[in-house]
Amino acid sequence: MSLSDPVTVLGGVGAKRAEGLHALGINTVADLLFYFPFRYDDLQERDLETALDGEKITIKGTVVSAPVVSRFGARKTRVNIRLRVNRAVVMVTFFNQPWLKDKFHEDQQVAVYGKWNPSHSALTGMRVLATQDEDSPSLAAIYPLNQAVHQKFLMGLIKEAFEKYGDQIESVVPRQLRDHFRLLSDRDIVIGMHFPETKQQATAARRSAIFREFFLFEAQLQLIKTNNAAPAEGLRIPFDNARVRAFIATLPFTLTTAQKRVVNEICADMLSAHHMNRLLQGDVGSGKTIVAAICMYAAVTARFQAALMVPTEVLAEQHYKKLSKLFADLPLRVELLTSSVKPAKRREILADLASGEIDIIIGTHALIQKDVNFAALGLAIIDEQHRFGVGQREILRSKGLKPDVLAMTATPIPRTLAITAYGEMDVSTIDELPAGRKPVVTQWLHKNERGRAVRLMQDEIRGGGQCFVITPLIAESEKIDLQNAESVFEDLQKALTGQGTVALLHGQMKPEEKEAIMRDFSAGKTQVLVSTTVIEVGVDVPNATLMVILDADRFGLAQLHQLRGRVGRGSKAAQCILIADPSTEQGISRMEVMTSTNDGFVVAQKDLELRGQGDIFGAKQSGMPDFRLGDPVGDFNILDAAQKSAATIFAADPTLSQPENKQLSIALERVRIAASGLN
Ligand code: ADP
Ligand code: MG
Repeated sequence: MSLSDPVTVLGGVGAKRAEGLHALGINTVADLLFYFPFRYDDLQERDLETALDGEKITIKGTVVSAPVVSRFGARKTRVNIRLRVNRAVVMVTFFNQPWLKDKFHEDQQVAVYGKWNPSHSALTGMRVLATQDEDSPSLAAIYPLNQAVHQKFLMGLIKEAFEKYGDQIESVVPRQLRDHFRLLSDRDIVIGMHFPETKQQATAARRSAIFREFFLFEAQLQLIKTNNAAPAEGLRIPFDNARVRAFIATLPFTLTTAQKRVVNEICADMLSAHHMNRLLQGDVGSGKTIVAAICMYAAVTARFQAALMVPTEVLAEQHYKKLSKLFADLPLRVELLTSSVKPAKRREILADLASGEIDIIIGTHALIQKDVNFAALGLAIIDEQHRFGVGQREILRSKGLKPDVLAMTATPIPRTLAITAYGEMDVSTIDELPAGRKPVVTQWLHKNERGRAVRLMQDEIRGGGQCFVITPLIAESEKIDLQNAESVFEDLQKALTGQGTVALLHGQMKPEEKEAIMRDFSAGKTQVLVSTTVIEVGVDVPNATLMVILDADRFGLAQLHQLRGRVGRGSKAAQCILIADPSTEQGISRMEVMTSTNDGFVVAQKDLELRGQGDIFGAKQSGMPDFRLGDPVGDFNILDAAQKSAATIFAADPTLSQPENKQLSIALERVRIAASGLN
């Protein structure tokens, strides 16, 4: 007799019910015992004085007169009983359950559950809980069911299974972890989930059950990771701590606590022989670039090379300039490699990368071309990593020595999902903005209020600030988009004559042109930059304090948040104006989200809610795990703890051969068998 016995060993499970159970995912006794209710109805007796209209409550009382059956409509019936509850008399009505008439009689004690109507002192009865002096339970577990499997049958079956097999339930989560997080044993989870006596007991069981579910999932990821890990070790990068510290001391600002923490996490990975595969998340403007710079410098002090790959040339150039300046007084060589680098220069760069004369290279996709070779690439950083395909990331990872990899992202997905979806990566998060940042004030205007946006721009320019104006770019009709951008540009030139200079930036321009326009804008020579979304990622112009986005409803939330992140990067207060007449509910919701929060994590989460999990990863990667109990967003803390715990266990015992991990090993084997359909 074992928990993996088929459910058909239990009473009353014939072919039809077995099929119904199978459809619910219940094949074995273990499946049944871990098939949990999705909610509980509170059957605790409720004080009528405080019960609300429509609230579902339990009342106990004495039947004062014989039940009355009446018919109405074609085949509808109702049974009325009058119940004395303390000093009040309550009319209880059961619809279409005529047989209840025989269940009640005068002077009987009963407990019923139903919907309360205080103005009529009436209760629409939903369930008879007890008659006479039977003990009524205080919570009713409600299960997901189907045609063949009814509530009562399922509950009976679970009870039987527990009576026969309860003693065999062993905990999947090792004891030490359970003690640490105050989690229940699997046996107590089963008791608390199915047969709780109090809400607290159910809640505690649920918390433990969610941990157990996440833990099993994370352990699977760890198992995959362990199985896939090449036996060869990763790079050890013994950086010069003193020089790194000295470099940090030369920065024009002090690092935030969060920046320090993630620098430490990344550096610890670099120092260890373990192959770093880390995701660095931080909201727009949280200061990821400087973290990247510090880590690259650290690699260089250990005589390794470092590469920073970004999705656009504008961004590559900006990073190149910024980092060159940061590293100006240090004995290291930084170069830029994009597809617009002239052939002669490119040949020189390739040769010097291969010989090790270049320490840090910044570039676009040009970095992952076949003929790009490194002498000793130790650290590869990918900025705005969601802009790259997994394949492109892998190419960079495979260059030369199998470098440590750091992927950076401005929260395109909530951290919770990053962990589950990028389960093979470690995650560092910058959850703090540099001090002194003022939140960007976001307003939504309709198209007929455009004039106000223009006036705001005029004010901004008068105050010495600069503005971005974003026009949408839709891939299918680049030409029309361009025309649109051009006409906005012309209109604004007219509207702002004599007040400020307007420039236009779009994707059809030559890189030199783009570069020149960005340079002028950064230097404050132009006041307004009309741009298509080429500006979107990473561009940093601290003096720009007004962002106007036209047809804002045509952008996704993540994109809008990225765009908004282009302003408010200095200490001056900044504004973002969304101009849109959205025609869909979703469009309206997006505007509302943007005007109600500045927090990228919240935006990402709303984005997730609005469009559903599938869309985030596109068709290819829609494989977000479907958790039964846990909600990866709402129960994030538990997911996080489960992820860390699973990682710790596998780090210490990769083969799960220690006795305390035996049950976990068995459970994973069971999951594997179930997944392979061998069961
Ligand atoms: P992102 O995380 O969006 O890539 P950046 O790295 O571009 O952000 O940083 C945004 C701005 O904040 C830059 O101008 C940068 O110099 C500045 N910055 C970064 N860290 C700090 C800090 N600790 N204190 C003050 N300013 C900082
Ligand atoms: Mg950035």
